[in-house]
Formats: sequence, C-alpha cells, structure tokens
Amino acid sequence: MVLIKLDSASEMKGTNGASAPTKSAVLHRDLSEEFLSLSSTEGNYLILEDGRRIFDASGGAAVSCIGYRNKRVADATYKQIIDAPYCSTVFYTTKAQEELCRLLVDSTGGHMARAYIVSSGSEAMEAAIKLARQYFVELKPSQPQRTRFISRRQSYHGITLGALAMGGHKYRREKFEPLLMRNVSQVSPCNAFRFKAPEQTDEQYVARLAKELDDEFQEVGPDTVCAFVAEPIVGAAQGCVPSVAGYFKAMRAVCDKYGALLILDEVMCGMGRSGTLHAWQQEGVVPDIQTIGKALGGGYQPIAGLLANHKVIDGIARGSSVFVHGHTYQGHPACCAAALEVQRIIQEEDLVANVASMGQLLSQGLEKRIGGHPNVGNIRGRGLFWGVEFVSDKTRLTSFPEAVHVAMGISKRGLDPRYAINVYPGAGSADGLLGDHIIISPAFNVKKEDIEWIVETVV
Ligand code: PLP
Repeated sequence: MVLIKLDSASEMKGTNGASAPTKSAVLHRDLSEEFLSLSSTEGNYLILEDGRRIFDASGGAAVSCIGYRNKRVADATYKQIIDAPYCSTVFYTTKAQEELCRLLVDSTGGHMARAYIVSSGSEAMEAAIKLARQYFVELKPSQPQRTRFISRRQSYHGITLGALAMGGHKYRREKFEPLLMRNVSQVSPCNAFRFKAPEQTDEQYVARLAKELDDEFQEVGPDTVCAFVAEPIVGAAQGCVPSVAGYFKAMRAVCDKYGALLILDEVMCGMGRSGTLHAWQQEGVVPDIQTIGKALGGGYQPIAGLLANHKVIDGIARGSSVFVHGHTYQGHPACCAAALEVQRIIQEEDLVANVASMGQLLSQGLEKRIGGHPNVGNIRGRGLFWGVEFVSDKTRLTSFPEAVHVAMGISKRGLDPRYAINVYPGAGSADGLLGDHIIISPAFNVKKEDIEWIVETVV
C-alpha cells in the first residue's frame, strides 16, 4: 500500500470523493467539502456513520492523549456536571480547578507559581500576552514602554487576533492583514533542515540566530520589548520541528540581557507529547510564562491554560494584585474535572515514559521505511510528535507548488478504507506557504503493535 503519492490533489477533492457544495447548515472550514460524520469511538479509533473504523494516528491535531471513550474521565466529568456544573470565577473556585492547578504547578518542580485555566490555546496565548504586558506595567518601577513582542516566522500561536499577530504562518494571516496588533516583529525560526547552512555547526547556527534576535532587540529598542515568544517544537506551522541543541539557552540569554520575558507556547507540544511533561524540560531553560492546551484535557473537554513563574506572579501581587482578564467559562468546573482525571491517568499509567519509548520506535520505523523515499525530505520530531516533510526535489529541497496540496492529499487518502488512518496535514514549513508535511502524533498509550501498524500504513 502506498499512502504517500504526490500527484493527485484534484482527485482528492471532497473527502468522500464528492465535490458538490453540501446542504449542511454548519459553516465548515471548506464550504465545498463533504465532511465525514463521527458516530462513535473505541480506544484510538474513530468510528464513522458509514461504518469506517479509522485509527487516529494524529490524535486529532495532537489532542487525544489517553485515547477515546475513557470511562474514568466520563464519570469524573459527569459527576462535576451533576454536582456543580458552573461557577463564575469572580468569587468562586472549585476543588477540580484547585487540584488541577496544583498538579500543574507542582509538575514544574517549583519553577511556576500559578496556573490559569481557559477554554482554548488561542485564549491561553491572549492571556499570556496580557499577563506579560501587565507585569511590566505594574512592576516597581513600572516599565510601561515595554509594548513590543518578538516572535518567529513560520510559527503558529492561535487564531484569535492577538495570537494570530504573534504567529508567523502566512496562510493563516494573509487574508486578515493588516492585523490589529502591530507591535509584533519576527525573527527566523530555528529549523536546521530548512535554514542551517550545510557547512555550519549547530553552535554557529545558534550563534547566528542569537545575533539576529539581539539585532532585533536593538532595532526596535531593547527596553521596549515585553517578551520573546516561541514554540519549543514548532507544530502546525512547520510539522514538529524541534530546535537545535543550545538554541533556547541562547534565546533566553538575549531576553535576560535586555530584561524581556520568555513566553513558550506548549499548546501543541506540551503536557507529555514531547517525551517529558513540559517540552522546555529538554531545553535547559525555564520560561517566565508557558501556555498549554491540547493534551491537557485530551479532547474530553475544551481546556487550555497558562503557567506563570514566581517573578511574574509576585510582580502582579505587589502591584494591583488583580490580573485584568477573564472569560465567562474560565476555570470551567467540568473541563477542570475532565483534565484532572486525564492528568491523573497519565501519571498513574506512566504514559509520558511510554511517549518517550514509543516515540523512539516511531522515529526509527519512519526513518527505516520512508527515509529513502525520493519525496521525503525530512523526518523530525520528539516523543510522539513527528513530522514528515515532502519535497519534489530532494537535493534542492524544493517544495511542491501550493496548489497541489500534497499533504492534504496524503491525509485524505489515509481516510480511504484501504488505509483507514488519520494523519494531520500541514503546509508552510519552508516559507509560511510552501513546505508540505504531515504530523503523526498518536495518543500516549499506543503500543508497539500500533506503532508498527502506523509505520506500515504510512508507507
Ligand atoms: N498555539 C499552538 C502552538 C497551537 O498549535 C495552537 C493550535 O493548534 C494554538 C496555540 C491555538 O490553540 P486553539 O486551537 O486551541 O485555540
């Protein structure tokens, strides 16, 4: 079976082979597509209304982490809904929120002081931006001139306007430009496959990127920068690209030199996905603020959040002591109860260790089976977070034309009953538009047989 086939995007129009506009009342992401209807789930399988049973090798978009249909999580969520489905967080908290935040803070080994729970990764990023800004406004002495953010090209930090401005994914930004938030500038991402010169060592590459960041601070005014924002492993925009060794230490040093905060966006790569609970634990740095999402609740409820270190929290505490932010559904009790149970299961079943060992099998298997494929340019990732980037010419690293939609074609073909596998499509790793990749990010509880099956099927 050959899932990787690169010349048939038009044949793939319409998930079910249909291309006529549907009668659906839903504003789907593509109005001309038929969407597959999910009726049930079982373990790591999606079961469709038409009877198809699809192995979810990407956990949605790296969301599912303990698989589907978990009774413990369902019971905990149900109990919370029956007992106390909602409370405003102006005056109230719940045991579920308190215990979840305690678990999260404790998981950082004392580095982080408080956790803040919202409903999506984009909201978490918006909150992170505002918390960083408020910190400097309330600092004594205050530094209100720190209004600027520096982020990276080919990054994704969410779809709401602030988070979108922070991100560097051209496709997702271009129709909305000029964006409302104009105080963001961007530097190069750290992507050795695409941008490290062949003769450069990792150290030289890191030194070049550190100089670029330093130059950007100088350009915009070093004391006007609030924070540098980056994903430890770039997910949707580049397809699971970790940085080279020493990169984040060097970036942290530049931030420290100019007194700016470091915000790490772990919405996609965090909460165990990388093989450690937090991806920064492999980088030798600790962020000032960290966002988390997807694997926090494993898809059982919409939940995301941020963690802030003692410096940031103490700064606010010594100022007004009020974080001027809030959502109606912030700290939602049922979402917290679900996520708490998901995290307990991850701990009890030692699933992060399984991520690390199954991840090794996955990377070795992919390399062995498709590393030599003439159109596989690069296989990269960490833990159970792997990206495969496709090129039309392997020596020149030429990407496929945007209109061909290679990754989308491969993902759609995976849904054919002959393969019945879900892999997540993406593009943009080369320049924000070009650079097709698929993401393979199964649940943390996959077994050796699942990995073997994924590797066999993706070939
Ligand atoms: N940050 C990163 C790194 C992401 O990958 C995503 C979503 O894919 C977001 C933020 C936004 O999260 P959400 O889609 O839950 O709003």
